[in-house]
Amino acid sequence: MNRYVIAGNSVAAVSAVEAIRKRDKESEIIILSPEKYTAYCRPLITYILAGDVSEDRLPYKREAFYRQNNAKVLYGVGMEGLDAKERRVYLTNGEPLSFDKLLIAIGGVPAVPPIENVEGEGVFTFTTVEDMKKIESYLPHVNKVVVIGAGMIGMKAAEAIAKRKKRVVVVELLDKILPLVLDKTASSIAERTLEKAGVSYVLGDSVVAIERDKKGKPAGVVLKSGRRIVCDAVVVAVGVRPNIGPIKDSGVKVNRGILVDDRMETTQEGIFAAGDVVEAYDIILGANRPNLIWPLAYRQGFIAGSNMAGGRRRYVGGFPLNSIGFFGFQVISAGLSAVEPEDAEKEDLEVLVNYDKDKEVYKKVVLGNNRLLGYILIGDVRRAGLYTGLIWSKMDVSSFKKELVSELSLPEAVYPLEGKEAIDFSARKSIRRFGWAVFPKSYRKLFTSFPSRIEEICAFDEEGVCIYGDDNRES
Ligand SMILES: Cc1cc2nc3c(=O)[nH]c(=O)nc-3n(C[C@H](O)[C@H](O)[C@H](O)COP(=O)(O)OP(=O)(O)OC[C@H]3O[C@@H](n4cnc5c(N)ncnc54)[C@H](O)[C@@H]3O)c2cc1C
Repeated sequence: MNRYVIAGNSVAAVSAVEAIRKRDKESEIIILSPEKYTAYCRPLITYILAGDVSEDRLPYKREAFYRQNNAKVLYGVGMEGLDAKERRVYLTNGEPLSFDKLLIAIGGVPAVPPIENVEGEGVFTFTTVEDMKKIESYLPHVNKVVVIGAGMIGMKAAEAIAKRKKRVVVVELLDKILPLVLDKTASSIAERTLEKAGVSYVLGDSVVAIERDKKGKPAGVVLKSGRRIVCDAVVVAVGVRPNIGPIKDSGVKVNRGILVDDRMETTQEGIFAAGDVVEAYDIILGANRPNLIWPLAYRQGFIAGSNMAGGRRRYVGGFPLNSIGFFGFQVISAGLSAVEPEDAEKEDLEVLVNYDKDKEVYKKVVLGNNRLLGYILIGDVRRAGLYTGLIWSKMDVSSFKKELVSELSLPEAVYPLEGKEAIDFSARKSIRRFGWAVFPKSYRKLFTSFPSRIEEICAFDEEGVCIYGDDNRES
């Protein structure tokens, strides 16, 4: 009988438990969970703060899941260190814990830049339920909040706080909103949405200091440009990085994240890693890099768990995929989406754009060697799963690349090219039921590889709610 120790209790961890139990019903599973909650749907914390979703939607797994899978959770206990040779982890309660197989699924930690006075009351990060609760209890004392960073978490935080009737200013170092996923045109649409919602923003500047009053509470922020913004709370949302602190000097090789092979095994035999903490293969870059998104954490955890229990699953890779909605602005993007059209040629890429200014519908695809490498869909996000599938499949899209950004959405646009009547899929409940069958047969032969299940890449429903797991799965 083996002892599996899983450090972390979120999506990568619980998908590993599911996979282990498919192969090994007997061995011991111990989960380390510094947070006192059962696994929860982390992306929901901003919706809960906004008051859009009730807190009872938060659990991704409930106690019954652990009971049914005979997995023991040590709540309030984390991994502080690792001795890979002796095969034991050191716990935050001071005790060692030996293992036969270990999964490191300890996620990411919020990056906090060196800002003067950043430590102290009224300054928050926003990645956990506890962060959310702290912000929530501070909001009654606050009129105006500065959010540092216009990435996904910063924008969702800005929306949530604005919905709580507080004034919000977003400060972003780069010259666009959601800088890692949008180009400048797409950002300008997002900027207008913010203005309409009454949220101000400052682009191309950064916060260098937080001013505090005599009681130590935030009174404002000072920007690099010298400008000062009065505020009484600050949310720092400049990014999340792999949580590699606890495995420092353990012998497990780390770059920006933990390095893993295609079995999700680290450089130490029997020690696996998955989720936001790893740097796994990115099929677009053709190299390892951190891709901190929920569906990949799920898949990596499942593959790691299966292999820990003697399976032979391979991780084919992943790429960035974001579905973001704030203030009614809905954008789905994937892969190399942020490339500016004017920079495409020098990077050997092709960018096709269809921008309907009146309707604020923006469709952009980025192609390389006639393969889809990235896209942005704003306003009309129908069939985003298929665009994502085209990236996975590495399909040659040269025969219908213009249709990728046409008024019709794929695959409706593809059928008329074949001389066939366009099919209206909008009446069908879920595109995921159809998968690749939605393409005419003559197109399907152009696929060169397939994701194992198309739903693996669509982990969120249209409202951005997690649909994996017993508690939140679509009926
Ligand atoms: C506000 C917000 C919104 C998001 N929105 C989206 C979205 O819309 N779409 C999307 O795809 N992704 C989104 N993400 C990212 C997504 O939540 C993560 O990619 C996903 O949760 C990663 O899962 P994970 O299992 O790797 O780790 P995490 O969910 O980060 O969990 C890490 C686990 O490890 C535990 N842990 C931490 N330190 C230790 C330690 N030392 N020892 C043991 N355990 C430890 C934690 O308590 C936790 O249980 C969002 C994230 C945030 C914060």
